[in-house]
Amino acid sequence: MPEHVIVGGGIAGFSALDKLVEEGERDVLLVSREKYPLYNRVDLKKFPKTSMEVQDLLMKKPGDYPEEVQILLNTEVEGLDTEEKEIVTEGGEFSYENLVLAVGGRPREIPAENNSLEQIHYLWTLDQARRLKNVARGAEEPVVIGGGLLGIDLASIFSRTGSEPIYLIREDAWWEKGLCEPGSRLVEEAMEKDGVEVVHGEEVQRFLEEDGNLVGVETQKGNRYSCDVAGVAVGLELNTELAEEAGIETGRGLVADEKLETSTDNIYAAGDVAEYRDVILEERRIDGSWDGSMSQGKTVGANMAGEDKVYRNVSVYTVDHFGLNIMSVGDAERKDDREVFFHREGKEYVQVNVKDGQVVGGVIVGRADLLAELKSGIEEGKALEDVELSVELQKCV
Ligand SMILES: Cc1cc2nc3c(=O)[nH]c(=O)nc-3n(C[C@H](O)[C@H](O)[C@H](O)COP(=O)(O)OP(=O)(O)OC[C@H]3O[C@@H](n4cnc5c(N)ncnc54)[C@H](O)[C@@H]3O)c2cc1C
Repeated sequence: MPEHVIVGGGIAGFSALDKLVEEGERDVLLVSREKYPLYNRVDLKKFPKTSMEVQDLLMKKPGDYPEEVQILLNTEVEGLDTEEKEIVTEGGEFSYENLVLAVGGRPREIPAENNSLEQIHYLWTLDQARRLKNVARGAEEPVVIGGGLLGIDLASIFSRTGSEPIYLIREDAWWEKGLCEPGSRLVEEAMEKDGVEVVHGEEVQRFLEEDGNLVGVETQKGNRYSCDVAGVAVGLELNTELAEEAGIETGRGLVADEKLETSTDNIYAAGDVAEYRDVILEERRIDGSWDGSMSQGKTVGANMAGEDKVYRNVSVYTVDHFGLNIMSVGDAERKDDREVFFHREGKEYVQVNVKDGQVVGGVIVGRADLLAELKSGIEEGKALEDVELSVELQKCV
């Protein structure tokens, strides 16, 4: 019986494994549905548009670990019995003393007619990225759907592989959930300069097909756009089912405390799927970044090995596309209880989000020099006037 079981072979799961091994633990089992060991999911956005090969993405191999550590790839955990303390796979059951669910998410399927045509692509797994790489260069009229941080990855892929995509965004501006309007415009101007046609207020209702092939999309306004390939990024569905069926508390993700322990003793959550208590913001949140997932995996690994660590981290999510370096820091979403301030000058943009007088997040475009100050301002819970950003901020409406 392995003492420590990790479900999920992404950065959160492998970071938990690394930490356990570093702490001298050997009685560890990691189970992952994917056939590859850890690979760089962030670099999947580069893979289809460059000469990168699968080998360049792989970050681990089973031989990297001590012999006693077991890694089961290509294996789905189908059930979890918290009374018996065991996980169930097709090949059998495994007992645990401590368990971490680092099961991440999957792209939300677009709720539109004919959404299973072969030419419709999502980008979350290496296999999906390989499929996209096979078609991106040959795409003549690609359409991208979804105005967020993963949608722009798809727009960049098509624009860099020789076509001029149409980018359909349901909202009035790109990444409206995060940016003030001047920030969205800056990014859209850069996309348009590179040949991307950005169209707002369009929600795809139907994929049009001829002889089983994609030929266009139709929106709720009745507008039609012809296309031969579609890239879709309309959100992430978190893999909460396993926990839910086992009676573990879930919200949008797996509810966890500040030590990342779920409502069931000795079961932890880490990575995208964790809806944890953030001790900096003093609220429950889902981080959704590579950096955050890695750091959560390490915290959980330490706690499984017997430490008593609180997770405390300000993550940074970086996007480099269309000649812009966009960094989202901490909790950058524009929520009702936040006051948001911004500064834009040419291709530079700085945004700061404040909650109850305390800086909690922000976005920086083209001013990487301000990252350290903003990040430490968030970490230390500073007031806006105490964060020295040397730009004149105005309130975002
Ligand atoms: C194209 C792309 C670009 C991105 N760009 C950035 C970026 O610029 N910056 C940034 O910070 N983040 C970025 N991200 C997000 C970042 O990659 C994720 O936040 C991070 O990888 C989440 O890691 P995770 O380990 O929590 O989950 P995942 O990486 O999703 O791993 C979960 C693993 O669990 C497995 N699993 C799920 N259920 C089961 C089960 N029942 N049994 C067995 N195994 C199971 C899955 O197969 C998967 O291997 C990007 C993501 C993508 C796809």
